[in-house]
Amino acid sequence: MSSDTKRIYNFSSGPAVLPVPVLQRAREEMLSFRGSGMSIMEISHRSSLFDEVLMAAEGGVRRLMNLPDNYNVLFLQGGAAFQFSMIPLNFLGANGTADYVVTGIWGEKAVKEAGRCGRVNIIYDGKDDGYKRAPRPGEINVSANSGYVHYTSNETIDGVEFNYDIDGGGVPMICDASSNILSKPIDIGRYSMIYAGAQKNLGPSGVTVVIINDELLEHVPKNQHSLLDYRNIASSRSMANTPNTWGIYLVGLVCEWLEQQGGVEAIAKVNDEKARRLYDAIDNSDGFYSGRAEPGSRSRMNITFHLPSVELDEAFCSESERRGMSGLRGHRSVGGIRASIYNAFPLEGVDALVDLMRDFAAENR
Ligand code: PMP
Repeated sequence: MSSDTKRIYNFSSGPAVLPVPVLQRAREEMLSFRGSGMSIMEISHRSSLFDEVLMAAEGGVRRLMNLPDNYNVLFLQGGAAFQFSMIPLNFLGANGTADYVVTGIWGEKAVKEAGRCGRVNIIYDGKDDGYKRAPRPGEINVSANSGYVHYTSNETIDGVEFNYDIDGGGVPMICDASSNILSKPIDIGRYSMIYAGAQKNLGPSGVTVVIINDELLEHVPKNQHSLLDYRNIASSRSMANTPNTWGIYLVGLVCEWLEQQGGVEAIAKVNDEKARRLYDAIDNSDGFYSGRAEPGSRSRMNITFHLPSVELDEAFCSESERRGMSGLRGHRSVGGIRASIYNAFPLEGVDALVDLMRDFAAENR
């Protein structure tokens, strides 16, 4: 690779690293998309060419997640955070209540938006414990009269991940899976809706994938605004207005790449191994590095830890940049270090970070 195409190890939490073959393919197809003489960004979303792109992206998500026919795959805009409003605007109602499980800062933001629409019942709140763990299954009790239960399967900032699917006990389960979608197999039948901003495991920012079942669609209010109406978006196949054509195209390519890697089961093994190597480096450092999340709730996607002082955190980040790594600075609200290692992040990059951790601890202990 020449210097202007040289890649570094990008630990960014999102937008995040994309598979190199996906970027190469997009580059190859840039000037004349499949012989059309136009780029994907210049063709009509109503063209048959774009229809193929949409079908490829939808089909990829369907196959990878093993979705039955009663689940719809939608491509929306506004980011995952827009769903924090769109969900209560559709499923809460002024007289309704919804249960929220809060294990980090994104869940907290979801609660804030839902509270503008109706009654929010927080059935687990990890704030007082500093968002260090997910609740154990017995700790959450879903209210029988709740319109839905909302939770965040992986809290990107805090590095807290559920290692089980919450049982909604018949109440529709809605999951923000922005930072761990397609990273491991899940039991889709337990969920009425799963959503994710694409910019971590699925593609570029600007497109949000929403997987929603037919039953939940029936709860959309009759006179809903067209672009807030999941049912309308489903029946128009995400083309109630002009969709993010470029983003959907890349989601399709990322899915194709993931299928070539052996799908979700195969990538889950790689993800487990990547996370294990980093947590081992933390745990075997004689306390030089401290993991943020409790061991049973450690994220496999966002490994959060800190050094003995803020100054050392900073020096560690500078040294990582000198060694060709980027994006390791923790979120400004929690500080420390965060290594985001989504599906497309290579194992060699994890080993490079483990080497840095070993060397840095030896020199600064
Ligand atoms: N939920 C989670 C778990 C996230 O990590 C993020 C973004 N980092 C969001 C929601 C918000 O996503 P967006 O910026 O796409 O609105």
